[in-house]
Amino acid sequence: MVTTLGKMAAEWGGGGCCSGSGPGPSRWSASLWVRGVLLLLGGLPASTTSVPVSVGTSPPCRHHVPSDTEVINKVHLKTNHVVKRDVDEHLRIKTVYDKSIEELLPEKRHLVKNKLFPQAISYLEKTFQVRRPAGTILLSRQCATNQYLRKENDPHRYCTGECAPYTKCGPVIVPEEHLQQCRVCRGGKWPCGAVGVLDQEGVQDADFVLYVGALATERCRHENIISYAAYCQQEAKMDRPIAGYANLCPNMISTQPQEFIGMLSTVKHEIIHALGFSAGLFAFYHDKDGNPLTSRFADGLPPFNYSLGLYQWSDKVVRKVERSWNVRDNKIVRHTVYLLVTPRVVDEARKHFNCPILEGMELENQGGMGTELNHWEKRLLENEAMTGSHTQNRVLSRITLALMEDTGWYKANYSMAEKLDWGRGMGCDFVRKSCKFWIDQQRQKRQMLSPYCDTLRSNPLQLTCRQDQRAVAVCNLQKFPKPLPPEYQYFDELSGIPAEDLPYYGGSVEIADYCPFSQEFSWHLSGEYQRSSDCRILENQPEIFKNYGAEKYGPHSVCLIQKSAFIMEKCERKLSYPDWGSGCYQISCSLQGLMVWVQDTSYLCSRAGQVLPVSIQMNGWIHEGNLLCPSCWDFCEQCPPETDPPVANLTRALPLDLCSRSSSLVVTLWLLLGNLFPLLAGFLLCVWH
Ligand SMILES: [Zn+2]
Repeated sequence: MVTTLGKMAAEWGGGGCCSGSGPGPSRWSASLWVRGVLLLLGGLPASTTSVPVSVGTSPPCRHHVPSDTEVINKVHLKTNHVVKRDVDEHLRIKTVYDKSIEELLPEKRHLVKNKLFPQAISYLEKTFQVRRPAGTILLSRQCATNQYLRKENDPHRYCTGECAPYTKCGPVIVPEEHLQQCRVCRGGKWPCGAVGVLDQEGVQDADFVLYVGALATERCRHENIISYAAYCQQEAKMDRPIAGYANLCPNMISTQPQEFIGMLSTVKHEIIHALGFSAGLFAFYHDKDGNPLTSRFADGLPPFNYSLGLYQWSDKVVRKVERSWNVRDNKIVRHTVYLLVTPRVVDEARKHFNCPILEGMELENQGGMGTELNHWEKRLLENEAMTGSHTQNRVLSRITLALMEDTGWYKANYSMAEKLDWGRGMGCDFVRKSCKFWIDQQRQKRQMLSPYCDTLRSNPLQLTCRQDQRAVAVCNLQKFPKPLPPEYQYFDELSGIPAEDLPYYGGSVEIADYCPFSQEFSWHLSGEYQRSSDCRILENQPEIFKNYGAEKYGPHSVCLIQKSAFIMEKCERKLSYPDWGSGCYQISCSLQGLMVWVQDTSYLCSRAGQVLPVSIQMNGWIHEGNLLCPSCWDFCEQCPPETDPPVANLTRALPLDLCSRSSSLVVTLWLLLGNLFPLLAGFLLCVWH
């Protein structure tokens, strides 16, 4: 007999949630509260605890392309006679900390100066190398009035009137010793000349100077971002950025260890914008022979597009393409995309998606100024480091390395590229059609919808695994407060949803074209972060009495699909957890094939898709359930040919009962992660686009 006691209530909340994210006026936000009210059996104390589960999406990165007045281009650098290069010839970034960094609280200062920036820069230095190293970096001074003159055959620019009292790179003031002598034309006329202190020593043995600040700027106050960065000066010969800044918003620097990885990937992402991945630099890219990909005027600059506020690139860099785009009701609409079409990017994108006719790599088309065009399309490269928001497991792929090579300024060390699973080998329909087309096609072929999904994020949660099988995940398909734009309405039917509501449904990440996909998540208690769903992090291990599925988190753990809900049983009590579908388990590779470990019991996977009946004893409880074997090749270097599992494996004897089992009264407790025996839960799913 199964006694299920519980009452469910769900309501949609508009407005905001999620600390650290602020809804912009044009952004939609939706949060889902799902409440379960538990009754209890067996003398357990009742309590109601609200445990929010949050599918994290950072606010989109709005890379502010610096305005024409903020950037000094054509900065003349003297060539050094001897350019000192390291043996391994890596990119040399000189980090200069502003005094605002020194004014941070000691823990934050230590984190920024000793961990965050050294690690981000060390990674980028190993990954890139400048093709044509310049000499000592000596930056040009800003002018008091933003008006300047250039004379033919003179590499310097002259301020009309006065030089500015100080020169800034973004919000950071450049130290005097990094600046050239002030050059002015008094009265706006020639003759013009140098005045004041002579050229300073500049920055030697560096390819790029990065000014790092922690200033509480307007942007920090309004955008809820961790950091932002851009270039501020470009050298004359190749237009390569030679200086840039990264500003950290002081209140957003977190010293929580679990937030470090996210901050590190954000800092790397931002510095890559400053080094080359910016719509403001597309028109300055050069081919492999050092020729500009966009033609120049006599002043050496490409045309300026005043409506975009950007230098206008040629179609050798970015090209506009129309896609035929399947949406609901069997309609096909036109969908305009911008593709980056430089040679190495095209080559890497074709290889990644296994689509030999792919014209280029799609750029982001949503999120407004700063997000669109400055990032890869999130629908296609979801967790790639240079997509417009941080959702999960960021990796810097070969495609971004190829882009950095195609600037003409860098060579890339492809051994530093990280493996990107999203979209790999999925073919032309995946990369050139809407996700509706792909989902429908997979359904017809009776194949997995992965990386997309179509299960509603509702109570109870149907858990699944992240695309790389390293974290428990949920499908981010949800209802929006307003119908989605027709271009992004993909569903002809969804179980339990009336047809008139279908236009309101889509994936929670707007910049992924509202395509629904499985996302890792985290648990929060009273607004405080508790743990994430990443299987490899030991600290994510659930407490003993909440570990229904006998899960094990740690470096050797992966996410496995549960074929049925796990039941925890002791004497007359049976407990199960309403949210199930996947869990974290340790695996190992052996000559016989992939082994799955549940506590001290190992189970051999003879083939992918094999069901493992699990029954183990842990802390006085029996845990029973079924796990699905993944493919051995997903995790092991060597795998034997797949075979049918031996019969013994299917009929594993149950361990002895701890009490004599009587008629079982099964209680499905709607218990989430509260205190020891608290019953209930509510959770909050919240999402930012
Ligand atoms: Zn960005």
